[in-house]
Formats: sequence, C-alpha cells, structure tokens
Amino acid sequence: MQELDTHTFRLAVAQFDQAAEAMRLDPNLRERLKLPQRSLVVSLPVRMDDERVEVFTGYRVQHDSSRGPSKGGIRYHPDVSLGEVAALAMWMTWKCALAGLPYGGAKGGVKVAPKKLSQAELQRLTRRYAAEIFPLIGPDKDVPAPDVGTDAQVMAWIMDTYSQQVGYAVPGVVTGKPLSLGGSLGREEATGRGVVYVTMEALRYLKMPIENATVAIQGFGNVGSHTALIMQQQGARVIAVSDASGGIYNAKGLDVQELLRRYRTAGHSLRDTKLGDAITNEELLQLDCTVLVPAALSEQITGKNANHLRCRILAEGANGPTTLDADRILEDKGVFIIPDILANSGGVIVSYFEWVQDLQRFFWSETEIQHRLQDIITSAFQRTLHFSTERRTSMRMAALMSGIDHVAQAHLQRGLYP
Ligand code: GLU
Repeated sequence: MQELDTHTFRLAVAQFDQAAEAMRLDPNLRERLKLPQRSLVVSLPVRMDDERVEVFTGYRVQHDSSRGPSKGGIRYHPDVSLGEVAALAMWMTWKCALAGLPYGGAKGGVKVAPKKLSQAELQRLTRRYAAEIFPLIGPDKDVPAPDVGTDAQVMAWIMDTYSQQVGYAVPGVVTGKPLSLGGSLGREEATGRGVVYVTMEALRYLKMPIENATVAIQGFGNVGSHTALIMQQQGARVIAVSDASGGIYNAKGLDVQELLRRYRTAGHSLRDTKLGDAITNEELLQLDCTVLVPAALSEQITGKNANHLRCRILAEGANGPTTLDADRILEDKGVFIIPDILANSGGVIVSYFEWVQDLQRFFWSETEIQHRLQDIITSAFQRTLHFSTERRTSMRMAALMSGIDHVAQAHLQRGLYP
C-alpha cells in the first residue's frame, strides 16, 4: 500500500516477513497481517490563540482486533505519518500477544510539535482529535494511551470529550489517565520499570551482577527518565543520558534524582544541570557500557553506527530503534538484544491493569501492580529466551514469532468472515 510506504513501516513489515518466513506462516494470513485492519485519517481545524485557524492531520490505525479490543498510544510529533502510525500499531499487536494481554494493536498520532502550542491550543487540538476518532474508540473497541509527546493531561481531555458525547463518565476509554479519573498507580513509570525488570533478567542470565552494571540511556522523556531512576534504585550506575538536544556523561555515575530536579528547573536542558560532561547522542550510543537503552525515537541504531556500539545488552525502550542491518551486525558482535516488543511492554501491561480496574471499579495497591507487572514481563522474557535458545534464533525473532503465532491461532480459530 503506497500510502503506508515509509521507513518505519518498511522496517515493521521486513521484521514481520522474516518471522513469518521462519515460522512458515499461512500465506493467506500473511497478506492480511502485513496490513492494518482499519485506518482513519482526520483533518483537525484548531483555533489558535491569535484567532487564526490552523488545520492539523491526525490518524488512528487499528492493526488487529482478533483477540480483543485494540490498544495503543497516541503520538504528537512533527514526523508522524500514516505509515509510521501503521508500523507502531503492528508492533502493538505483537507486543500485546507476547505479554498475553487480551488486546490487538492500534496507534494514533497527530502531526504537530506539541511544545510549540499553548496549553489552551493543545487542549482544543486534543478535543477535536478525540471527537474525530470517536466512532473508532471505546472501552470494548479501541483504548488509546500516552506515547511520545502526550501525557496524562491529554488522556484526561480525551476521556472527558468521549464522556461528554455519551453522557456519562467512561474512564475505561483511555489509559494513562490522572489518578483522580481512574488512572492506575504505577502507570506513569511502568514502561521504565518494565525495562529494568527485563534487564535484570538478562543480567542474571549472563551472570553479571547489577551492582557492577553501567547504563547509558538515549532519551529523557517518560521512558528514559524513569528507566534511569529505577536502574539506579536497583544498584546500577547510570553513566550517561541524553535528550533531543544532546546528552551528559559522568563515568562515576549520575545522581539521577538530583539530575531530574535540576533538569526541571534548568528549563529541560541536560547540559545546564552541570552534572556531567557534554556528549552528543551519537557519542552516547557508542559508549562502553553494560546496558544501552535507546528510549527515544525509531531507527537510531543503523548499519552505519551498529559496529561502533560497545554495550553488552541492548534494552529497547523505544519502539523500532534498531534497523535490520544493525540487527545483523549486533548479533555478530554478540550483543544481547531485549527487543522493543518485550522490553517496553511494561507500559501496556500496566495500561491493561488500569483498564481492568476501571471496568471493575475496584482499584489495586501499588505493590500489587508492581508484583503483577514483574510477574507478567519476567515470564514473557523467560518464554522468549527459551524459544530463542531452543529454536536457535535471535531474541527479536523469538519475540516476534511467539506474538505472531498467538494472533495467527486466533485468526484461524475464528475463521474468515463471511
Ligand atoms: N505507547 C505505549 C507503547 O508503545 C503504551 C501503549 C498503551 O499503554 O496502550 O507501548
């Protein structure tokens, strides 16, 4: 499909093809699963603070709903396109299936630079977007959540817009909400916490104690910052972090708590925190460290720089951070990869808890959430590792093949309509 043809979509399809080939997936299913089930493109006229009307483009793509409602975040970023959203939706399908969550995959996005909007503009944009995708979403249909450039406040506006349309409060229509609206304890840090849990499993498997581990993290948004904090709490040494404007490095280890405090007061500039030496994003990726966590955007580790990576473990906090060329190079170098659909699944796992709590109107303690998260993500890791050693395939292929197999079974058992 020409409309979908972007780098990210090609990467998602190439990964799928590789897995489908290796597992000899039924060719009829293969054609279907390469494409989204349903895609919606919407135009969003928004009144700006200076009274002008600006028109933004938004998307919601549902890749699959064979195993339950579709699930996935909403991204606000200037590079958002239909192809990127479709790729991210496909990854959500495999991610949910791998973790055993009763969901299919979806993703949404608006092509916008959210930091350039005022809060009032952001709210009007979000409400118009929610109204335009209204026919597609709902607690039993498709449940959005935060992603790059969106947060709990954006989810609150979507929940309110949806609830105004139906006439009563529907907390289960989105996850990642504020606690006051039926959000879940532990959701905000969940993706980072999940990254740490699977990294701890990998370290144990490689017989490396976490106390000696050094960690470099690309990206200091929700995923990167929480990963840094929790890694440190678990005893690892965080030696470098970066955001879009560059990073800082400190061989002795950064005091992450202090870093976060200064980052917020220093106008979100890592360098102005003065806690380490300035480095570029590219230099961060090439640092000698135990664990490298790409937690920013897709296709950061490519055929061009993969050879220069010096980490033992690559824990993919972001979606699609590694290209296929890079995968081959890293495999040859013996880097242990915890693939994105496994490493960053903590977010959607706790989103699932939030949805269950909303539907039951019964809320759990933070300890219960952490235990259940650790339980689910650790067993997904162990199953993937087992599959990978048994079938002599990479961790990425093992994760994809298990996810795809669950979805394929559901399709075959439901049969073809009509
Ligand atoms: N946006 C997150 C992801 O890519 C979370 C999705 C969700 O919680 O539904 O996994």
